[in-house]
Amino acid sequence: MNILKFGGTSVGSAKSISALLDVVEASRKKEDCIVVLSAMSGVTNLLLAMAEQAQRGEDYSENLLAIEERHFEVIRTLLPASAQNPVFTKLKIYFNELEDILQAVFNIRELTAQTKDLILSYGERCSAFMVCHIAKQKMANVEAVDGTTLIKTDSNFGQARVHMELSELLISDFYSTKQGKLLIVTGFISSNEEGRVTTLGRGGSDYTAAIWGSALNANEIQIWTDVNGMLTADPRIVEKAFSLSELSYIEAMELSYFGAKVIYPPTMTPAFLKKIPIVIKNTFDADFPGTYIRHDVKKSELPIKGISSIDDISILNLSGSGMVGKAGFSGRLFSLLSREQINVVLITQSSSEHSITFAVKPDDAVKALNLISKEFELELQAKKLEYPEVEKELSVLAIVGENMKHTPGISARLFNALGRNGVNVRAIAQGSSEYNISVILSKSDLSKAVNAVHDAFYADLKKTLHIFCLGTGNIGTELFRQLEKQMPHLAKNNDLQVKVMGISNTKQMYLSNQGLNLENWQPKLQEKSEPADLKLFVKKMKAMNLPNCVFVDNTASANPVNYYKEILESSISIVTCNKIGNSADFEQYRAFKNAARKYGVDFYYETNVGAGLPIIRTLKDLMMSGDKVARIEAILSGTISYIFNNFNGDKQFHTVVKEAQEKGYTEPDPRDDLNGKDFMRKMLILARDAGYPMEATDISIENILPASCLAATSVTEFYQELENNAAYFEDMKTKAANQQQVLRYIGKLENGKVEITLQSVDDSHPFFALSGSDNIISFTTDRYKDRPLVVKGPGAGAEVTAAGVFADIINVGKK
Ligand code: ADP
Ligand code: ASP
Ligand code: MG
Repeated sequence: MNILKFGGTSVGSAKSISALLDVVEASRKKEDCIVVLSAMSGVTNLLLAMAEQAQRGEDYSENLLAIEERHFEVIRTLLPASAQNPVFTKLKIYFNELEDILQAVFNIRELTAQTKDLILSYGERCSAFMVCHIAKQKMANVEAVDGTTLIKTDSNFGQARVHMELSELLISDFYSTKQGKLLIVTGFISSNEEGRVTTLGRGGSDYTAAIWGSALNANEIQIWTDVNGMLTADPRIVEKAFSLSELSYIEAMELSYFGAKVIYPPTMTPAFLKKIPIVIKNTFDADFPGTYIRHDVKKSELPIKGISSIDDISILNLSGSGMVGKAGFSGRLFSLLSREQINVVLITQSSSEHSITFAVKPDDAVKALNLISKEFELELQAKKLEYPEVEKELSVLAIVGENMKHTPGISARLFNALGRNGVNVRAIAQGSSEYNISVILSKSDLSKAVNAVHDAFYADLKKTLHIFCLGTGNIGTELFRQLEKQMPHLAKNNDLQVKVMGISNTKQMYLSNQGLNLENWQPKLQEKSEPADLKLFVKKMKAMNLPNCVFVDNTASANPVNYYKEILESSISIVTCNKIGNSADFEQYRAFKNAARKYGVDFYYETNVGAGLPIIRTLKDLMMSGDKVARIEAILSGTISYIFNNFNGDKQFHTVVKEAQEKGYTEPDPRDDLNGKDFMRKMLILARDAGYPMEATDISIENILPASCLAATSVTEFYQELENNAAYFEDMKTKAANQQQVLRYIGKLENGKVEITLQSVDDSHPFFALSGSDNIISFTTDRYKDRPLVVKGPGAGAEVTAAGVFADIINVGKK
C-alpha cells in the first residue's frame, strides 16, 4: 500500500484537482492507496491572516468570502449540479463554525495558540471533504477522513509533538475497519490528550503522510507537489536547478531544514526508522519518475547534493570575557532558549570561546534578547558580557551532501565562489556530521550567492557570466558578433554561458534582467532603450547584484574609467580595451590593481597593448615566474606599422593614413596614433606591468610629424596638414630607401627608461621584415638573454581586438 500526499498546489484549483484524481485513479489500479491532502494553496495563509485580523479587531469578512469562493468555484466546475448541494451544505456548516470562532476572537481580541490551530484546521477539513466528493464521481468506495483524532500529540499548539506509538495504533486500528476503501485524509491536523485540535507545524501534511505510512507499513510515501522532486536549489532562485534522482534521509532532512520547502523536515524520521522510501513527485508531470529519499542510495558523482537557503534570519552575538573557560555557559544559554521554545537555527562559537553567535527566526530575536538580558543580568552589569545586539536582514545558505565528507576542497570552493562575488559572510557553521556547511550572509546577497555557489559546484551546467558592455563601435559590434557565433561552442567545450545583461553607447542604454538576445541587439538598443547615463548604468548593474559579473569597456573614452574602482570594489570584474585607465596617473593604475586584488576579481586589459596578441599575459607570466625584464623593444602601433609598410610606390602619406583609418586600425582620432600618444600609452602600461612606477611624462617621444600637423585642431584640418606636408614625408621615405632601409617607430624600455624613436633600419634588424599592421615585441630577460622572446602578429583592427576582449572575458569565466 502507498500513501499519496498532495500539497496545496495540487488541490489549488479545479484543474489541479482533476490532475490529482487522475494520479490517484492510476495508482489505485496498481496498488491500494491512502490519500493525504493539504488545504487548497494559500488557504492556510488566509486563515492565519483572518485569525490575526480578528484579534486586532479588523474586518476579516473579505478573506472569509475569498476562501468560500475558492471552494465553491471548484465544486461548481467539477461536480454536476445534482451532486453539488450536499457538498455546499457541509462546507457552509464548516464556514459558519469558522465564522463563529473568528467572531469570538474578534469579541475578546485574544488569539491563543490553541484557537489558532482550530482555525487553521478548517483548511484541510474543507479540502479533504470536497475532494472526496469529487472523487466519488469517478471512483467507488471513497471516504473522507478527518484525521484529527487519529494523530495524538502533546499540547504544543502550532508545532505539536506526535505520540507516535499511540497514533500508529489508532491509525492501524482505524484502517483495519476500512479495507478496500480509498481514504482521503486531512493532513496537518491532530489532537492532544484532551481532544483539542493541534497542528504539526507549517507544511505538516507531509509529516501526516509519513505517520500514516509508518503506521501501515506502506511501501512508499509519495509526496506529490508542483515541481519535479527535490532540486539542487530552490527553482524560484536558481533557474538552472535540476532534479535529483535520489537522496539519503539525512540529506533530505538537512536540505529541508535549511529551507528546501518541498518537504517538511520531520517527515523523514518515521520513514527513516521503518526504511520506507519517500518519493517526491510532480502532479503536473506524471512522467517524472520522482526524487527518491531512501536508505540505500547509490554513490553519487556530485560533490554536493544541493544548496538550500532560509531567506530571513536574525543573529545574536554574545561575547565577553565572562564566557571564556566557563563550563556550562552555552548550556545555560541554550537551555534557556529551548525552555522558551525558541528554535535555534544555527550556532557557531569562536575557538577562543570569546563569542557565540546563533541564528533564530526574526520573530524570535527580540524575545531571545530579552530572555538573555534577564538570565545574564549579573554578567552584563559586571561587563563580563557585552550587551548582545540583534542583526536583521540576514539569510542562511547551506550546502548539503554526504559526499562532502570524503571530498577535500568543498569549503574552499564555497568560499571562493562567495568571495569572488563580493558576498560578505557573517558567520559559518559546519555540522559535525560534515553533511552540511552553512553560512550567514546579507539578505540582499542571497540570490546572487545561491546562484554563484550553484555555478561553482555544478560546473557541467555551464557557468553563467553576466556581462555589461560599454561601446557599440567597431570593437563592441564585432565582440557581439563573435559572442553570438561562439555561444554554442562555449557551452559545449567550456561549460560557459555568456549573457549580455546591459549595453550602452554614448546615446542609449538598455539593461535587461533576462539578458539580451545578440541576434537583435541593435534594434533593441534603439527601441527599448533609455538615454545613456553612465552613472545610472553602473548603478543599475550593481543593483542587479548578479553573480559572475563582468564590466566590459570597449570605448576609448575617459568617462568609464572614473567608475572602474567603484566597479571593482563591487566585486565586478573588468575587461577593457580602453587604454586610458591604465595609462593615466600611476596612482590610479595602482588603485585598480589593488581593488581587483582586494575584492578577488579580475581586471584584464590584454588588448591595451597589441590588440589580441598575448603580450600583457606573457609579461605577467614572466614576472610571476620570477624572471627579470632587462629590455623590451617593440613596435606597438599597428597604425604606424601599416602606414610605413604601405607608404611606398607613389602613394602619398595622407592617403595611407586615411586607408589605415578606413581599415579600422587607427584610434577613433588618428592623431592619437601619429603623435605617438597611443604608442606611448602602450609602452607606459608595459613599463608599469614590468614593475616601474612610471608616469607618461617620463617617456621621451620622438616626433614623426611636422609642427603644423601637430597643431591641427580637427581631424579634417589634420588631414589637410598631412597633405600640405607631403614633401616632408616623401623626403623621409626616399632617404631611408636610398640606404636600403625602412622606417620603423620603435619603443624601448631599458634600465627603467622608456623612449620611442623613429629609426631607419636595414635588413639586419629583427624589426626590418614587418608587414601590414603587425606588431612585434621582444623581451630580453634573465632567462631569455641570448635570444629574446618575441611575440609578433597583427596588432590592430576590430576583429583581433574584439577577439582579445573575448578571450579576457572567457578567462574571467575560468575562475
Ligand atoms: P506543496 O503545496 O506541494 O506542499 P510546497 O510549496 O510546500 O508545496 O513546496 C514546493 C515548493 O518548494 C516548490 O514549488 C518550490 O518552489 C519550493 N522549493 C524550495 N526549494 C526547493 C528544492 N530544493 N527543490 C524543490 N522545490 C523547492
Ligand atoms: N496547509 C498547511 C500549510 O500550509 C499544511 C501543508 O500544506 O502541508 O502549512
Ligand atoms: Mg509543503
